[in-house]
Amino acid sequence: MQAATSFDAVVIGAGAGGCCAAARLAHAGLRTLLVEARDVLGGRASTEIIDGHKVNVGAIALEFDGVFEETFRTVGADLPIRMPKPANAFYLDRKVVDVGKGGWGLLLGGLTKQAARILDQFAQARTGSLPDGRLSTKDWLSGYTKNETVHAIFRNLCAAIFACNADELPARAFLTYFTAKGAFKKFGFHPDGTIGAWKALAGAVERNGEVWLDAPVERIEVADGAARAVVIRRDGESLRIPASIVISNAGPKATVALAGEAAFPADYLRRVREDLKPAANIVFNFASREPLIAAPGIVTFGKTRRLCNLANLTATCPEIAPSGWHQYVAYAVPVPALGDFDAEAETALAHQDLRDQFPGFDDKVKMLSVRVMRDDWPAQRSCAGYDLPRETGIEGLWCVGDAVKDYGNGGTQACAETAKLVVDAIVARRGQP
Ligand SMILES: Cc1cc2nc3c(=O)[nH]c(=O)nc-3n(C[C@H](O)[C@H](O)[C@H](O)COP(=O)(O)OP(=O)(O)OC[C@H]3O[C@@H](n4cnc5c(N)ncnc54)[C@H](O)[C@@H]3O)c2cc1C
Repeated sequence: MQAATSFDAVVIGAGAGGCCAAARLAHAGLRTLLVEARDVLGGRASTEIIDGHKVNVGAIALEFDGVFEETFRTVGADLPIRMPKPANAFYLDRKVVDVGKGGWGLLLGGLTKQAARILDQFAQARTGSLPDGRLSTKDWLSGYTKNETVHAIFRNLCAAIFACNADELPARAFLTYFTAKGAFKKFGFHPDGTIGAWKALAGAVERNGEVWLDAPVERIEVADGAARAVVIRRDGESLRIPASIVISNAGPKATVALAGEAAFPADYLRRVREDLKPAANIVFNFASREPLIAAPGIVTFGKTRRLCNLANLTATCPEIAPSGWHQYVAYAVPVPALGDFDAEAETALAHQDLRDQFPGFDDKVKMLSVRVMRDDWPAQRSCAGYDLPRETGIEGLWCVGDAVKDYGNGGTQACAETAKLVVDAIVARRGQP
């Protein structure tokens, strides 16, 4: 095993959380190694080229006005995302419904007489009065209305944002997200595909460290309850990099496998085994010569079988598709999303939804990819409301990413937040005598 250059910190995995953490560490003055098993940055929010189209694997909507954007400002990385206007709309009975500034009130007011009671719950949530964490969003909503369209919209919001069904998401997490978090009100698409964001952060890491692709971490060495080194496979050799600060973006389960169960406290192992609930979704990327929909941002559907939302990417970022093509991504969430499901049958139901929503769908579109995100490569490594701590019980070893989110948060914003919380704690500890 080769000896290697020295770093103050090693970040395992160049997903959203890993890139944000590594860029923050490097910016804070720690010489940082960001090491990624695959040959591309971005993990589940990367971008691939298919038939000349930039196709996003996962995240498309990157939020303004939060820790995510602040990370780029802090480390001096470009984030040239473009906001569609309106960013959000609904697609009900094949019509775009833009509720604009009227928001929830305007939407629900047109659908149910119980709108005021539901809105009152949002108002109470804003003051911190939230339902018990065991009550599902569906059961909570059923206490106020039986209206099928309202239930369909709430289901599809749960699906679009949290990658789960309304009966799988705690109402507490739903209300926390919509009253205290970003709630995807202001977001943009990246003209280079989402990978453009991670390339910019990798550039920030390289100002005070290195980024290694195609370099899987094989082992995290722990002794006397503290992280000591990581062993990395690179160019056919195993390299041992001493490190007392190790941030893992691989998810808690893979992190335990890398360090070995014996290194962790029993309670942490129990939580990794029992608490994590990976959430699944099904992603259709496609393109058409004629525009399919007028809305330039993301539309959430009403009554569907599995389809939940769709983004019109070329309306704001025409450069992601070859000239003359309109490019879209549609998402569906299986039933169940937090347990086992028949991927083929669930995909077929979602495909049927697309045909219903867009007559002539099969003739009009070129399908670029259909992907089921689940298990160890899921939509969310743990559904909102079922997160693990960022601390692992091992000194110097932390987790970032979407299994260790703050309560009720989701997506890349939540991953960026995990990175900030961990790096702030590391920097504060180093500052102590
Ligand atoms: C279809 C879909 C749509 C989504 N849409 C949005 C959206 O519009 N907006 C939004 O904000 N969020 C969205 N999300 C969620 C968002 O993409 C994820 O929450 C986020 O990308 C997860 O990032 P992460 O930090 O957990 O890292 P991950 O993406 O899990 O990356 C972890 C990285 O670690 C690497 N790794 C693992 N093991 C090792 C090892 N041993 N050695 C080295 N490297 C290793 C992996 O290869 C990977 O690159 C979407 C997700 C999906 C699937």
